[in-house]
Amino acid sequence: MSLASGRTYLAIPGPSVMPDAVLRAMHSAAPNIYEGELPRMVAEMMPDLKRVAQTDAFATIYIANGHGAWEAALSNIAAEGEKVLVCATGRFGHGWADMAEGLGLEVEVLDFGLNATIDPARLAEVLTADTAHRIKAVMFSHVDTATSIRNDPRALRRALDEAGHPALLMADCIASLGVDRFEMDAWGVDVMVAGSQKGLMVPPGLSFVFFNARAAEVRARMKRVSRYWDWVPRAEPEWFYQFFGGTAPTHHLLGLRAALDLIHDEGLEAVWHRHAVLARAIWAACEAWGQGGPLRLNVADAQLRSHAVTALGLGGRNGEALRRWTAETAGVTLGLGLGMAARDDPAGEGYFRIGHMGHVNAHMVLGVMGVIESGMRALEIPFGSGALAAAAEVVASNEPLAPAATLTAEEATARATMAPAAR
Ligand SMILES: *Cc1c(COP(=O)(O)O)cnc(C)c1O
Repeated sequence: MSLASGRTYLAIPGPSVMPDAVLRAMHSAAPNIYEGELPRMVAEMMPDLKRVAQTDAFATIYIANGHGAWEAALSNIAAEGEKVLVCATGRFGHGWADMAEGLGLEVEVLDFGLNATIDPARLAEVLTADTAHRIKAVMFSHVDTATSIRNDPRALRRALDEAGHPALLMADCIASLGVDRFEMDAWGVDVMVAGSQKGLMVPPGLSFVFFNARAAEVRARMKRVSRYWDWVPRAEPEWFYQFFGGTAPTHHLLGLRAALDLIHDEGLEAVWHRHAVLARAIWAACEAWGQGGPLRLNVADAQLRSHAVTALGLGGRNGEALRRWTAETAGVTLGLGLGMAARDDPAGEGYFRIGHMGHVNAHMVLGVMGVIESGMRALEIPFGSGALAAAAEVVASNEPLAPAATLTAEEATARATMAPAAR
């Protein structure tokens, strides 16, 4: 018999759990889209949206999922036949590359595999060799949701600068925005795309493209950009806050307003801290389980792991079996392995993922850990002891993983002297 009756938990890496405040905000009659409350609310909301991305650059909203934002960003900076470079660390990097190919762009992919971050030295090499500066943009996932690798945008910025290459640096923060620390302006990211249904806790359907003045210049030199994806009118408040290229996505906007209130009431630093501590609690449990059984964190180096999602291998078809058990018996839906196929596991059924982005707190994470241990016991998958105690200890300490000393002296100084408003 099942033990799943009660509030279920969708612990997949998006869509994420929707807060009651977001659901309440969306449970309302249709507003007037032309004047009054809604356009005013959107105008007032944009600075709060930019603050989550730590940017004073331009921000636009599209009525689309993340794939739409991928296409929107590319459509504004490169035309058919022009070249872009994709640094892939999992399925989502390849997905953005595929979108570029669909637009007729020439795409070069640097594939860093499924367990490692982007190597800035290799990127610098490719950029240095491009003496004609044909590469218009370097695209990457801040967090690749398939592998749970987290890349460091600062290292990529340095690679571009050291190569003296003018390409735009374009980040996919669909999984990481509002979860992992990200500072668009301070880190020198030119274009950033995000979606509503992950760290931002709103249903899928809105996506965002942020772009700076350098990217705006590239757009200005484009011969033609498709009307719907063109970011120029979308960044014009007078036009855009009433007219979203059509009818405004009324209820998603109401939900987003409520979500941004939650984020800024908690404080962005506190939001990042909460995700960092909870992720560390999950890893502590996983490492203990792995001591006495097949469970493995996909990313060995904790410094390179995302705080939004954790990809795990269990071998055989155990990932799939565990997911079925936790959903049917315990009311927890875990994420499936994505893009992790291997020769002995063509469907990637040995893998699963835990989503821990957005509206997630300590009791939810500790609950998921208890359920996973129950599932492994029920399925007779061996595991090491002490995992739940290890997770509880991290929660009790309330300490994130200590950062590696990878900041250069310059960066550390810049960060220390940054005005509080810019952080
Ligand atoms: C979810 C996700 C996407 C795709 O977003 P959709 O809304 O599903 O189109 C792209 N990139 C990353 C990093 C993601 O996590």
